[in-house]
Amino acid sequence: MEVAPAASLLLCVSLRLSLAANWDFVDTNFTHLDDAIDYKDPCKAAAFWGDIALDEEDLRMFKVFRGDGQNSVHANRTASVNGSSSNGGARRRRAAGAPKLLRRRRAATSRPERMWPDGVIPYVISGNFSGSQRAIFRQAMRHWEKHTCVAFTERTDEESYIVFTYRPCGCCSYVGRRGGGPQAISIGKNCDKFGIVVHELGHVIGFWHEHTRPDRDEHVSIVRDNIQQGQEYNFLKMEPDEVDSLGEGYDFGSIMHYARNTFSRGVLLDTILPRYDVNGERPPIGQRTKLSRGDIAQARKLYKCAKCGENLQDSTGNFSSPGFPNGYSAYAHCVWRISVTPGEKIVLNFTSLDVFRSHLCWYDHVEVRDGFWRKAPLKGRFCGDALPGPVVSTDSQLWIEFRSSSSWVGKGFSAVYEAICGGEVKRDAGQIQSPNYPDDYQSNKVCVWKIAVEEGFSVGLSFQSFEIELHDSCAYDYVEVRDGGTESGPLLGRYCGYEKPGDVNSSSNHLWLKFVSDGSVNKAGFAANFFKETDECSRPDNGHCQQRCLNTLGSYRCACDPGYELAADRRSCETAACGGFVTKLNGSLTTPGWPKDYPPNKNCVWQLLAPIQYRITLVFDAFETEGNDVCKYDYVEVRSGLSSDSKLHGKFCGAEKPEVITSQHNNLRIEFKSDNTVSKKGFKAHFFCDIDECSKENGGCQHECVNTFGSYSCQCRSGFMLHDNKHDCKEAGCDHVVNSVSGTISSPNWPDRYPSKKACTWVLSTTPGHRVKLVFNEVDMEAHLECAYDHVEIYDGRDTRSPSLGRFCGTKKAPPVVSSGNKMFLRFFSDNSVQKRGFEASYDAECGGSLKAEVKTKDLYSHAQFGDNNYPSGSDCLWVVSAEKGYGVEIIFQVFEIEEEADCSYDYVELYDGADAKSPRLGRYCGSGTPEEIHSAGDALLLKFHSDDSINRKGFHVRYTGTKFQDTLHASK
Ligand SMILES: [Zn+2]
Repeated sequence: MEVAPAASLLLCVSLRLSLAANWDFVDTNFTHLDDAIDYKDPCKAAAFWGDIALDEEDLRMFKVFRGDGQNSVHANRTASVNGSSSNGGARRRRAAGAPKLLRRRRAATSRPERMWPDGVIPYVISGNFSGSQRAIFRQAMRHWEKHTCVAFTERTDEESYIVFTYRPCGCCSYVGRRGGGPQAISIGKNCDKFGIVVHELGHVIGFWHEHTRPDRDEHVSIVRDNIQQGQEYNFLKMEPDEVDSLGEGYDFGSIMHYARNTFSRGVLLDTILPRYDVNGERPPIGQRTKLSRGDIAQARKLYKCAKCGENLQDSTGNFSSPGFPNGYSAYAHCVWRISVTPGEKIVLNFTSLDVFRSHLCWYDHVEVRDGFWRKAPLKGRFCGDALPGPVVSTDSQLWIEFRSSSSWVGKGFSAVYEAICGGEVKRDAGQIQSPNYPDDYQSNKVCVWKIAVEEGFSVGLSFQSFEIELHDSCAYDYVEVRDGGTESGPLLGRYCGYEKPGDVNSSSNHLWLKFVSDGSVNKAGFAANFFKETDECSRPDNGHCQQRCLNTLGSYRCACDPGYELAADRRSCETAACGGFVTKLNGSLTTPGWPKDYPPNKNCVWQLLAPIQYRITLVFDAFETEGNDVCKYDYVEVRSGLSSDSKLHGKFCGAEKPEVITSQHNNLRIEFKSDNTVSKKGFKAHFFCDIDECSKENGGCQHECVNTFGSYSCQCRSGFMLHDNKHDCKEAGCDHVVNSVSGTISSPNWPDRYPSKKACTWVLSTTPGHRVKLVFNEVDMEAHLECAYDHVEIYDGRDTRSPSLGRFCGTKKAPPVVSSGNKMFLRFFSDNSVQKRGFEASYDAECGGSLKAEVKTKDLYSHAQFGDNNYPSGSDCLWVVSAEKGYGVEIIFQVFEIEEEADCSYDYVELYDGADAKSPRLGRYCGSGTPEEIHSAGDALLLKFHSDDSINRKGFHVRYTGTKFQDTLHASK
């Protein structure tokens, strides 16, 4: 990259940032060219309609009303005010202030300029998305391609194209092609799910929401009372003369349909409901799984897809003309598109050909083109009955068209194809993926790519995602990269495992790349970009860097010597105003500028060193940086040691104060880094040093020594207690009451031999509504068939009167044991002969189970650490709450705080009116605010709790009671 563009890029980025304050996906190195694209940004749209961005042109087609529905105004002005007041909030909130729309003259989808010519949609994925996010985008695009004739292609020089980007408005897009340059499709937090991307692409392709069709009132009812205030306009419908549904019936299953409670003012409340049953049940709406048959039919009509043919995406396959071999009809028109993994080529072989022969195949013919559409270079046009030789694609796509015009009937044709990986790649930039990526690669593959770029440059290779069977020396599956054009070139790297290899740079304009998979264990593989690369730092001007120039692929950056840091111009260096080497026994540290916001682009390193035998304790007094879940932008890193690769205590960001940290040895390293956007207050911390008495002769303790500030204390193993001299341990009674949610317990004197004639007990209790799960890590006791001698026995309740869950001895590891309620009782017994090591077991809480609703009210919590921590990710809990005969179950939510999403499709609570999930569903809930109280119709309720793998909230607390039916009837409305 040239130097001048890098500078202008900087300007461009910072200028746009001032407009979108919360845009936190900016790379400080400015290496991503696509970040500088000045695209049409849906977040700055004139107005929103749900997740649809509307521009001024759209608005001119509508009569627009103010949010309160009272004053009719010409909306363009109000609308643009709403559209640009970006506070980075969720799209729901953004939409709240948007104007109401009443009419539009016609459907955008019927406007030819909003259609993508030939169904070809060029795209760019901005540089900040992870490999797995990119894979999701590609899968969503391939899903549309599989079922329609729309084609997504990586943008080369097309004027109009879409840019996948992360914008503060969350998930949003314009409807159809805007023309006149790039337009963004925003995939924000929690939108990077396959179904949602397919939905947003539906808008890009040209679809509005299904429930805004003019005929929708015949099919769904809108429950206006339940709609959030200010959101009513989302449920407006279009006028009959405005929309073209292309003759397709109303589609409840459309991926473009809202869910039952979208824009609902309470998780329980439906806003949109189907009016009638389909196949004997109320049809579900709002699915985000895949395109429905109606979606596919409508898209095929909209883009006038050929009536026959198909899209082939497997690595091998076959196809034939309609009616083959019994003869095709006149005026047939079919299109097949073969699309295999980028980096592979297609070998197409005709196995049969019998098509009316004409001069230049003017009438009936099969045409093969080297690309994804009808304007790709022609590979061959065939008719007659002479089989053509194999056709090999240059890239990973082929386009095959069959036309008949004569009434002469031939058998038609049939063909087979196969994807071949590897080969010579002569281009200045492109992407290479392992076969079948992002699905698992096949066994026993060997692919060799020989990449050549323009002479005078080197080849840069940058892995986007990487997942290959792991082995210490990469002996099974691997990627090998060599310098030069042959297998004998110097080895640049051999890679496997799950970590993205670093960037690779060749010394000449040739690079050799090999992928090998063995006969077992297949993974997603890799995707890598290659491009021509030049070393800006090798120029005489040192890249205009004052001190150091570091070449990176596609760009370079300046760096500074220790004690200096990069100035705002990113080229010169100034004395670092923070960090340093500290040998005091106590003191404090703050981010630069404290208590005002820290400056951008700071990198401060403090190295604390104490005398040997001392430990350093760091306490944060105040803490606030950008970010929360992922500390990718601004963060504080604390390590035991002085170097940047010593043991990490934690990487911190956001508003939560890190816990107190004590160094492992006598030194501590604290690093603070801020990027070029969003500054916060930073942190204030103090530290002190304390001698570690335990580091010398165990502090004189017989068992364990625990260091504390200014002192230390001795502790004894299980079954022992501290002697009056505070250092030795003596045998103790061993009845234990354990109330923590998780931990370990062990036989007395573990891991040494247990004493003889000992009886110890444990009562384990966990949070109401949860069960105790016990897993033995090790068992080593005197063996006996019935465990009559030494043993440990487990009971399902508070004491030995409860049912036994098993008696264990010997050395065979016992299976995990789960209690039915929230209590478990353990008894260890040793007789007077043969002592062994005993046992060690871990206990933890397990959610779900059967609960008995009684007249006395009981509690149920979403997770065992309710009140201390948010609920964990990936929970799937099922509780069956049942009452005695003649009684019903009453449930009252005391606390309710679950990740909010319009369709509750991430985290949710579901209630069923019966003992299993086949019973009628009472509702699905998320968000905050407690749902209304619930009464079962029968004697049981099923409560289901699900959490996905991101964003966790406080959870819920429920009280349940068994109530007499007549009471229930009386109490409920
Ligand atoms: Zn939408």
